[in-house]
Parts: sequence; structure tokens; C-alpha cells
Amino acid sequence: MTEQNWIPEPSPAVQPFFDGARQGKLRLQVCADCGTWAYPLVNICSHCGGTRMEWRDASGKGTVYAHGRLARPYHARHQDRLPLILAQIDIAEGVRIYSNVVDIEADALRAGDAVEVAFETFADGGVLPVFKPAST
Ligand SMILES: [Zn+2]
Repeated sequence: MTEQNWIPEPSPAVQPFFDGARQGKLRLQVCADCGTWAYPLVNICSHCGGTRMEWRDASGKGTVYAHGRLARPYHARHQDRLPLILAQIDIAEGVRIYSNVVDIEADALRAGDAVEVAFETFADGGVLPVFKPAST
């Protein structure tokens, strides 16, 4: 595998997401006009058309929409972490994000399971939000 970063240099536009991860927060965009959350990055609110998108810390709670088990590495950050669970998570604030689910076997995870955000620090210094089964 080649040496590459997941996202080589986070663009300034998404820097708050990565800053949030370093601080242990799931930081996402929200519309200042109507309160609709957005992911991935948008410039215009999909609900009201407003352009005042700001960053706010989400609850970090969600449910599993769909998931799959990755057994082969497709990225340097998969090394030593396989098998990995790739999942679509419906965040409580109303957006669906792609992430990994950790601390559970793929066979034990079900659609609809409650999960909460956790953070994984990689050897290259990157920090990304992942999800684990909800504690309660
Ligand atoms: Zn809006």
C-alpha cells in the first residue's frame, strides 16, 4: 500500500470537523436560519436555502442505518484494524454519515442499534470520529 493520508490536507472549509475531532466532539454544520444540520459539507441549506451555515457540536448519538464488514485493506489507515465495520449512521440531529463502528463484532451489529461517537487517533496523527455501541 502506498503511504497516503485519508484526506491529505483538510481544506479550510472542513477544518472545523477535524478540529472538533481533536477536541473529542462531533462537529457538523448547521443552518443558522432554520437549524437544519448538514453533512457532507454544503454552502446552502437544503431545507431553507439559507447561506448562513455554521459549525456546532452534535450530540454524537445515532443509530445504525446500514453496515458492512471490510476484510481487505483499501487504505493505509485500515492496516492492523481489519476486519473493520463500515457503516452509515443516522445522527440524532438528522443527517446520515459514513463512519466505522468499533468495539463490536460485525455479526453482532444490527440496523437500528444505538451507537455513540468515539474517536480514533491514527499513527499519522489524524483523529477521526468513529462509533461504538451506545453505553446505555
Ligand atoms: Zn436552513
